[in-house]
Amino acid sequence: MLAEVVLAKSSKFLDKSYHYSIPERLAPAILVGSQVVVPFGKRTETGFVIGLTDHSDIDKLKEIIEVASPSPLFDAASIRLARWISKYYFCFFISALKLFLPPGKKTSRTRPEEHQGERQNKNTAPEPNEEQKMAIDKINACIDEEKHETYLLYGVTGSGKTEVYIRAAAHALSRGKGSIILVPEIALTPQVIERFTARFDNIALLHSGLTPKRRRDEWDRVHRGEAKIVVGTRSALFAPVKDLGLLVLDEEYENTYKAENNPRYNAREVAIAIGKEKGVPVVLGSATPSVESYYLALNGQYGLLKMDSRIDDRPLPPVEILDLKEEKGWLLSHRLREEIKATLEKGEKVILFLNRRGYFTTAICKECGYLVKCPNCSVSMLYHSAERKLRCSHCGHESAASLVCPKCHHNAIGLLGTGTQRIENEVASTFKDARIIRMDTDSLSKSGSHKELFELFARGDANVLIGTQLVTKGLDIAMVTLIGVVNADSSLNLPDFRAAERTFQQLTQVAGRAGRHHLPGKVIVQTYNPGHYAIACAARHDYKGFYEHEIKFRQALSYPPFTGLILLTIMSEDRPKALKVADDLKKLIQCGSLLGPTPAPIEKIRGQYRFHILIKTAETEGTLKSIEEALEKVVVLNGVRVLVDVDPLNML
Ligand code: ADP
Ligand code: ZN
Repeated sequence: MLAEVVLAKSSKFLDKSYHYSIPERLAPAILVGSQVVVPFGKRTETGFVIGLTDHSDIDKLKEIIEVASPSPLFDAASIRLARWISKYYFCFFISALKLFLPPGKKTSRTRPEEHQGERQNKNTAPEPNEEQKMAIDKINACIDEEKHETYLLYGVTGSGKTEVYIRAAAHALSRGKGSIILVPEIALTPQVIERFTARFDNIALLHSGLTPKRRRDEWDRVHRGEAKIVVGTRSALFAPVKDLGLLVLDEEYENTYKAENNPRYNAREVAIAIGKEKGVPVVLGSATPSVESYYLALNGQYGLLKMDSRIDDRPLPPVEILDLKEEKGWLLSHRLREEIKATLEKGEKVILFLNRRGYFTTAICKECGYLVKCPNCSVSMLYHSAERKLRCSHCGHESAASLVCPKCHHNAIGLLGTGTQRIENEVASTFKDARIIRMDTDSLSKSGSHKELFELFARGDANVLIGTQLVTKGLDIAMVTLIGVVNADSSLNLPDFRAAERTFQQLTQVAGRAGRHHLPGKVIVQTYNPGHYAIACAARHDYKGFYEHEIKFRQALSYPPFTGLILLTIMSEDRPKALKVADDLKKLIQCGSLLGPTPAPIEKIRGQYRFHILIKTAETEGTLKSIEEALEKVVVLNGVRVLVDVDPLNML
């Protein structure tokens, strides 16, 4: 018997497998999935067995030296999935296979075996309502038939989606099957986890906040079959759950499901690939599904499970839109200031939400709200202060930054960008009683500190919370009765074709934080674009209205779901070098619709200049071939890196 081995090291030259002979003494221990030590050149290397065969074209094979894992680390299905990932997301096979391998270092500690069960005491558990029952029955039938189906569970905020996940996981467990439940971010979704731990003994938690040792312990518990329910973030998708019966992605549209490093996979697409491979239903849940997923559900590729009403028919909070064109100079409108004052006087709490830090400066007419956009790409043009120009970050179209509005002809075009700090100053100087907590990526550089900040706010040590998207998720705090969205435009104006979708999602999620308990809530949205469909539809809690608008725009300009996207980022400390490689690549890539190269919206990150080439293609596989060939031919100058991102979510 011979073993087909891939080396753990990843490099272009090693992106293949090697045959080794198996010495008799090792034969019983070597299986597909074994970690082995092999001679390679003059050294020894670690590798993994991905196949066993009797035949090799090479005469003199070297022998495997030893086996480094007591039992196989992955199965044949994982190998097939890793092949698919490496092909689709354009990475080395070993990089994809590593997703399935145990994290961190093994510890010698052994724990007594505990097997998973549903807790005996389920009196906390609510009885599902009719809408929940329908969803649960469909999913459970699929679990029983061991059939793959992707379900989009589209349920408004507070409709009880988590209860559906729990019931389906319990059903799988009663059939001896395991489940994987993915959440976008552990720290921001404590309630989902608490509810799972309350209902099941012995779940495994897998996320990047754990120490490597804890992570490995959790992985081992799953690998040994002790824990059958895994709750975790993106990479928990690859946990070696025995007899998998169910895959769930909560808030399926979230960017955190897309890996920002190689392999740049999207857990949503990989979950579906796993579901197909293993005959397992995949449930994608959200109150604001991605346009792509909803489109596929409407077209019958996904099953659509709908939950239209909140539990106990609690009302969604009323949303008031405030036109900033009528407020001159203040960040907080007169109306919002009045409401803040009244709320604080009643001893209740306020959340002020900003869509993003003031990274980007866009040009907007302060008279009529006209936003300067690229005529070709329909994304907002960004102001580049050095050249005093507006530029499209997709196609490079440029225009002078003029004061005159092309729509209303007033001299009123201004530059827009607002930071959390400025809001904090304004609130602090206006309201004497305000005890403020600011929460953004700056204030959160220490891990875990957001939990402490949330607790301060929940306890009442603070009564105003000011923050970026971090405050939109998972927060369920009594006494929050006013939510102010300070500037809805700063997300609407992002140079990204998903800007409207993100704005709608964020506004809907942030509005879902208000009035969750006995006190009714209220939301005030400040904007220069009160008529924009993303804002108007969010204010009406109208997902369908939003979708119908958005899908037309996607079709007209050929964006997903009507085409696939591949984004190339060419980066270097040396700007001219990066641009040269980008230009050369463009000439070599043979495909229909290629935009750029153009400076990325965030042109320089950590000293690296970045250029984008955006390719629209209906034929991802063929286009990747062409990119691969171009990358082989092009002279990649010293210090230049080329990143290939398939189905990119981050366009900045
Ligand atoms: P979603 O995830 O859709 O926002 P949740 O799952 O958080 O909604 O449910 C909202 C609240 O309703 C939770 O406190 C949950 O425990 C409760 N709940 C869920 N289903 C039911 C039910 N059938 N009867 C009563 N309460 C329920
Ligand atoms: Zn453009």
